[in-house]
Amino acid sequence: MMDILVNFAYIAAAVLFILGLKGLTHPRTAVRGNLLGAIGMLLAVAVTLLNERILSFEWVLAGLVVGAAVGSVLALRVPMTDMPQMVALLNGFGGLASVMVAGAALIEEQSTRYAIYAASASGIALVQMNVATVLSGFIGSVAFWGSLVAFGKLQGLLQDPPAIAHRQRINAVLLVLALLFGGWLVGMPEQTWLYWMVVLPASALGVLLVIGIGGADMPVVIALLNSYSGLAASATGFVLNNNALIITGALVGASGLILTSIMCRAMNRSLANVLFGRQSPADAAARVDDIYAGRVKSTTADELAMLLEGAGRVVVVPGFGMAVAQAQHAVRDLANLLEARGTQVEFGIHPVAGRMPGHMNVLLAEADIPYDKVKALDEINPTFEQADVAIVIGANDVVNPSARTDPASPIAGMPILDVDKARSVVVIKRSLSPGFTGVPNPLFAADKTLMFFADARKGLQDLVAALKAGGTL
Ligand code: NDP
Repeated sequence: MMDILVNFAYIAAAVLFILGLKGLTHPRTAVRGNLLGAIGMLLAVAVTLLNERILSFEWVLAGLVVGAAVGSVLALRVPMTDMPQMVALLNGFGGLASVMVAGAALIEEQSTRYAIYAASASGIALVQMNVATVLSGFIGSVAFWGSLVAFGKLQGLLQDPPAIAHRQRINAVLLVLALLFGGWLVGMPEQTWLYWMVVLPASALGVLLVIGIGGADMPVVIALLNSYSGLAASATGFVLNNNALIITGALVGASGLILTSIMCRAMNRSLANVLFGRQSPADAAARVDDIYAGRVKSTTADELAMLLEGAGRVVVVPGFGMAVAQAQHAVRDLANLLEARGTQVEFGIHPVAGRMPGHMNVLLAEADIPYDKVKALDEINPTFEQADVAIVIGANDVVNPSARTDPASPIAGMPILDVDKARSVVVIKRSLSPGFTGVPNPLFAADKTLMFFADARKGLQDLVAALKAGGTL
């Protein structure tokens, strides 16, 4: 009877997780989705504690207090631009938890669990549990160390190391070592030291796999490591025979993989290229002069105010620079001012604008910009021809027309926002410096483009002031 109740509660928790994930797919329902997921987690944890008859809660409470304090302070203080490394840390700790729980279960098995399982379960169940232990240790270690390295790189604590000779071969040796010791452990689980012989090479593999990847590719790697930490948790669910953990881990594993694939597709790159290759914009840099020389027109806040005064429809395209400058509130002020004068204002969002998926949506939502004005790439692209002005704010790669027109470009084939089809284009950024991919952008030299060289926030504030001054003349 108890088992049925517990499994029923786990199914309820799983349904809450799935509804939570569905809620997270849209900004309007994201907060509710987050809450549903948290309630599901509370239910799963409470039922597990009661089911396992853990009735002395001192350690649990101590962990809760310390974890909640550290987590809340970090979450409240982390700036939006540092969110990818925060997520990396959280993934990493998930992986570490799996390594430790599976290891502890293995050691505990030797006295009580092993006897219980051996007596009650079939041999297959025991092998399954041992395989799951190896997988938890292996995947969890890769996720933990890989995530730590990703955190270190994004936080600027670790630099790109010089190329490591035979890196792929070393990785292959580490993988084989972990598999060999893992196989041995499955056959002889009483040799608990073998667990560490799986964890050690897997840890080195986690470091080596991530350390060579360019810092700017880290968000994709973090999504992948997120998926790994879910798979490790799922394997730990098999070790503990806990259905809630199996389901939750599988959901995290699958959603991390889906996110990884969305990011790769939006950049038109394969996962192998992100993990093992580097984009080389070297020859692109040489072409900068050919593209920009004598063709770039710069403008001022006052000139832009005049241009915008005559505009019926404006599309704003934010990018990484808006996040860096924290210019979202100034963007809202500009949009409100234009709308008050009868201009239609919409926002076009590229799936990988910024440095994490949904980066721009979160910032615009923070500035209370209504969701119905925020359009995805497929929705906004066919409408650029009807835009009087496209205002590009700190975006670069996601509006680079060479992705569409130059088959030799490193970003050829990457879907972009077609701002160059608007009647005029205004680009607000500080210089002609390239974006994340290092590729020059012919948009800046196009006849219809005006460059407003400024920090995004300061530039927008000046533009708003100029518009207001114009309106009172
Ligand atoms: P980019 O990285 O292409 O360009 C950002 C631009 O912002 C720079 O050219 C910079 O120019 C400008 N900028 C920086 N600081 C400021 C500031 N304070 N004020 C004004 N402008 C500023 O950004 P996009 O958003 O267009 O593209 C994102 C890129 O990141 C894509 O290549 C994408 O593939 C990649 N990426 C995205 C991920 C995601 O999940 N979103 C994950 C991994 C990679 P300047 O210095 O002249 O001001």
